Amino acid sequence: MRRSKAFIPTSKEAPSDAQLASHIFLSRAGFVSQTAAGLYNYMPLAKRVIKKIENIVNEEMVKVGAQEVELSFVTPADLWAESGRIEKFGKELLRFKDRKDTLYVLGPTHEEMMVDLVRNRVTSYKNLPLNLYQIKTKFRDEARPRFGLMRGREFIMKDGYSFHATTEDLDREFEAMEAAYKKVLTRLGLDFRVVEADSGAIGGSGSKEIMVIADSGEDTIAICSKCEYGANIEAAVRGKRSEIPEAPEAEFNKFQTADVKSIEELAAFFKVDPYYTVKCVAKKLIYEEGSEIVLFFMRGSDNLQEVKAVNAAEALDIEDASEEELQELGLLPGFIGPLDQDKAKHVIDIELKNATNMICGANEMDYHFVGVDLGIISDVAYFADIAEVNEGDTCPHCDGSLRFTKGIEVGHIFKLGTTYSEALKAEFLDENGKAQPFIMGTYGMGISRLVASVIEQHHDESGCIWTKATAPYMVNVMVSNIKDAEQVKVGEALYAQLQEANVEVMIDDRKDRFGFKMKDAELIGFPYTIIIGKELVNGNVQIFERATKEKNTVSIDEIFSKVMELI
Ligand code: ATP
Ligand code: MG
Repeated sequence: MRRSKAFIPTSKEAPSDAQLASHIFLSRAGFVSQTAAGLYNYMPLAKRVIKKIENIVNEEMVKVGAQEVELSFVTPADLWAESGRIEKFGKELLRFKDRKDTLYVLGPTHEEMMVDLVRNRVTSYKNLPLNLYQIKTKFRDEARPRFGLMRGREFIMKDGYSFHATTEDLDREFEAMEAAYKKVLTRLGLDFRVVEADSGAIGGSGSKEIMVIADSGEDTIAICSKCEYGANIEAAVRGKRSEIPEAPEAEFNKFQTADVKSIEELAAFFKVDPYYTVKCVAKKLIYEEGSEIVLFFMRGSDNLQEVKAVNAAEALDIEDASEEELQELGLLPGFIGPLDQDKAKHVIDIELKNATNMICGANEMDYHFVGVDLGIISDVAYFADIAEVNEGDTCPHCDGSLRFTKGIEVGHIFKLGTTYSEALKAEFLDENGKAQPFIMGTYGMGISRLVASVIEQHHDESGCIWTKATAPYMVNVMVSNIKDAEQVKVGEALYAQLQEANVEVMIDDRKDRFGFKMKDAELIGFPYTIIIGKELVNGNVQIFERATKEKNTVSIDEIFSKVMELI
């Protein structure tokens, strides 16, 4: 491609709301342009990157026997009513009516559509397993579309769905898909981690996320310093504490604790480790039918993990309780302790089961109980894992310790089981001729989010640094001075030669100044720029490597073979 003819509208200006490097540089380097909140146009460079990622995904999917399909983007609302998700998905679903007044939904994901495609077409265990996928535009009316391609409303997803006769077979497929996803990410040149993810109220290890490690990631992940364990903070668990602080000795008693409100103040007041204090967090839990205040109890050294809390309370969402709501229940912030169980639902962290020597609020202004033995309620109370792991906690799988890092969720694989096949009555006949619902898995990967993730992980102050597998063009032939006939001749010859060798090459044949053109090349992020400049009189050109910004002199005779070697 000739840079003089290419549609690459680079700019010095970034969008005013752009905070992330990927948003800034993909906009400035002419990859994408914004149409409206969360809507982007992909310009030629972005299309090339997307195609590369899609090709790699397709190649790895073929290897594991997945078959590509393409389902309609517009999906009948009836299907969403059948699964019950028309309510659950809520406002993220963009709904509209056609001229016949029939309601439709723009596909945000395609479980229902894929089950509908397969039901009544695959009817026997003999035709299982089946793994179908597509790479397709999705639409989610996200509440806060932001960060450019990272969280768009319209975005490209690879979504796959597998159908099985047995859970063992689903487990096998799940492992194969995890391995395939790892290969894709490795081929793309990304530093990533597969982590355990929240799998909703069901629990279990049937949900994993593929996280690209980047400081700008929206997710916090806990990873072990020693073994492979990694989990989204929403799902992370810890092993037994190796050192337990010395327990305070006290008889059960009520103590005046004037002006003591926070856990730190309480621990200091009694000169105990916060480990021996009970923290109570009152929250408002949202259900389909309404909302209620739930009291969550955990050690003072821990914090409530809200996703765990929602799962434990089998709720849809969690919000802060207002002061009025707390007052209504007679709760005094700073002094909250267990109430009558019929006044409010209590959820107690599993680590408090049978805990002794605890200090907790007395539900009375300026008073706490000491010497509390939770053993007395251990048979009646509802216990669940609701505490967030802390950095430094012991790994649940080895004696290593957990540390936190930020990640971008680029993929999610999930064992669905029979949730959708039962709801949509999608069945097959098993070996005994008995009708059974399909056992399913779902495998998503954010293709457009991956484009942004590459740049989050690979950029510097000058712009994009594409990995070899994702670069829109591998080589940029830079003719420094277009008025120099010899430079033009050598540049054009190299350009032709590289094109002939099927190298993805651009030639910068514009009349602009050299400095300007180099800045542009750095912004776009070609892995290699061959500078045909002043050194040509000595028979030399320079190879500029984008990642290191190093320039190396190479003779004209060797440049072609040197480039071929590098790429
Ligand atoms: P998130 O927690 O980031 O909202 P999600 O849990 O809603 O993601 P899934 O429903 O599992 O995501 O979708 C599969 C993949 O699609 C995600 O792993 C992510 O890479 C991508 N994805 C989801 N939402 C968006 C979005 N708004 N913009 C771009 N990519 C997205
Ligand atoms: Mg989402």
